[in-house]
Amino acid sequence: NANRKFHPLDTVVQIGELKIGGGNFQVISGPCSVESEAQITEVADRVHKAGARLVRGGAFKPRTSPYAFQGLRAEGIELLHAARRKTGMPIVTEVMSASHLPLFEDVDVIQVGARNMQNFELLKELGKLRKPILLKRGLANTMEELLMSAEYIMAGGNMNVILCERGIRTFETATRNTLDISAVPMLKKLSHLPVVVDPSHAAGINWMVEPLSMAAIAAGADGLIIEVHNDPQHALSDGPQSLTPDQFDELMPKIKSMASFM
Ligand code: PEP
Ligand code: MN
Repeated sequence: NANRKFHPLDTVVQIGELKIGGGNFQVISGPCSVESEAQITEVADRVHKAGARLVRGGAFKPRTSPYAFQGLRAEGIELLHAARRKTGMPIVTEVMSASHLPLFEDVDVIQVGARNMQNFELLKELGKLRKPILLKRGLANTMEELLMSAEYIMAGGNMNVILCERGIRTFETATRNTLDISAVPMLKKLSHLPVVVDPSHAAGINWMVEPLSMAAIAAGADGLIIEVHNDPQHALSDGPQSLTPDQFDELMPKIKSMASFM
């Protein structure tokens, strides 16, 4: 059960030797999409050197247009394994269909994207696993709905759920989404699960990743997910919100000092 009432202590989700939650702060970083072996291994190496401890990269991509790049699919997962071999970092990647789950057997953290937050049959399948699930808030879902989706996974016996606030749809168009900063303290009050923030998808603009990261830490987030690309201008998805590895190098010391201050 995700409710703090029945579980007063923070849940610490264990990912190999890494911990997230209960005072353990982690940065997950990498490109939106895995594009090639050189790309994912280079970005993984750079973000690892800067202090990220998990590498992200989409293999199955939930694109608005069916004509947009759909991801390298099974090959993308293979390339993430190459990045893990090179850096030792656990890998985080999104699943879009329960029928693909056999491909995710050796993935460390399975991401449920915003568009699948209420794919209840998928959530039930993930509840049968025991590996960590990163559950992103839907584009237009309430905190209560996010918690009920976490409950779907936990009802199956998988307690390793990490919640993610990634911005919601509002009337505002200046940013891609509106970061609901109040979700961080509220979710942490209602639930014992770790809460991470994705400032990249919330803002949709690379220069805003830094201030939103600072705000997330100040609000009590247990971690951040930040998109980094070796060549954002030519990225196959989400280039405008991606930091370069050099920009990430500049951001990480600020994140580390802010997180240790909290
Ligand atoms: C992503 O992490 O690249 C992604 C598609 O995120 P979201 O589901 O939050 O839009
Ligand atoms: Mn993305």
